[in-house]
Amino acid sequence: MPISEPTSLLELTQEELTQLLASWGQPRYRADQVWAWLYGKLAADPAGMTDLPKALRERLTAQTRVDPLKLIIQQRSSDLQTAKWLFRLPDGLTIETVLMLYDERSTVCISTQAGCAMGCVFCATGQAGLARNLTPGEIVAQVLAAARWLADDERRKTMDENDATIMALGPSSSVLRLTNIVVMGMGEPLANYDRTWAALRRITDPGAFGLGARHITLSTVGLPQGIRKMADEPLQINLAVSLHAPNDDLRTQLVPINHRYPIAEVLAAVKDYIARTHRRVTFEYALMAGINDTPALARQLAGLLKGVLCHVNLIPLNPVAESPYQPSSPENATAFQKILEVNHIPATVRMRRGIDIDAGCGQLRRRAALGTGEGMKG
Ligand code: SAH
Ligand code: SF4
Repeated sequence: MPISEPTSLLELTQEELTQLLASWGQPRYRADQVWAWLYGKLAADPAGMTDLPKALRERLTAQTRVDPLKLIIQQRSSDLQTAKWLFRLPDGLTIETVLMLYDERSTVCISTQAGCAMGCVFCATGQAGLARNLTPGEIVAQVLAAARWLADDERRKTMDENDATIMALGPSSSVLRLTNIVVMGMGEPLANYDRTWAALRRITDPGAFGLGARHITLSTVGLPQGIRKMADEPLQINLAVSLHAPNDDLRTQLVPINHRYPIAEVLAAVKDYIARTHRRVTFEYALMAGINDTPALARQLAGLLKGVLCHVNLIPLNPVAESPYQPSSPENATAFQKILEVNHIPATVRMRRGIDIDAGCGQLRRRAALGTGEGMKG
């Protein structure tokens, strides 16, 4: 299958890459080499694939490209612990990817759609509607971009103060490589199920990027069929469900898709998921002042989740410009958490990361809460 227009190599499965190179008269082991360059050595440019014959490198450069993403903007938070990238897709749409650095891990938050059709009222991505699904290559490329950035020697040579701190941790420090992924960027991953899972398989494949599935968390607005489908996947990706309210009246106001899939249906799917996988599920709850953060609602939530193998992540809302919704005060957040804990529902309050670069960003900001520690244990 000759490629007439430059196609991203990241869109190809290993078999498709082998077929493409075979159509150029190349033996299978050449395709294996290219694959290893893409996913193992994080090559961004065929010119750097030094063990390939020059003619093959030139043909790859002329007829393909590695990366479907073009970096438009990079921002670092003032504490330098968070980097946010705005990427342009081949058709001109843009998506966001966020990398968060911790002492012993680094977590990338990836998008699965350009926009989102779900319309959650507190979410900037939801306000803009859905443009289209991302392809597997566009999803994988966000992970590779983060991994490349972490591994970039040139960046380390020109390190800023914070990078000096990272360097002081030594070359074995995990912050120099990607340790966790949260599928919590723009879009609803279970509304783009097959492409998202094709990407997750590539990311976890030991012959490709090879990150352990247990280091990956997928967050969904709560689509019951998708949750049940996830339960049958062999890959042990962690599941997080965005609940945000303990009753249908309030949840439908905040998360309009609740009208179609009310709490009882979401919870039934989650319980099936737990019964099949024996894995703890995280419920996300963005705390909004005076909206969903009262003690009475905390008690209602505790009642709803009684006996469910779960953990609740309470995240004070990231305010979105021109939105009436505001974050709960730290006191109210703590009081809410205490009520859950007294009722034997494990809960943590997560503070926001990189708040200064999150302005105007759909919802990428809150990914700090998951795939990142206690919430996922047990
Ligand atoms: N569509 C999926 C995944 C992307 S959104 C989902 O909804 O789960 C990732 C998380 O960010 C969700 O829990 C979502 O409710 C939350 N979120 C969206 N806007 C937010 C905001 N302004 N402040 C805090 N969390 C927000
Ligand atoms: Fe879509 Fe998730 Fe935002 Fe809701 S919170 S609009 S499901 S991205």
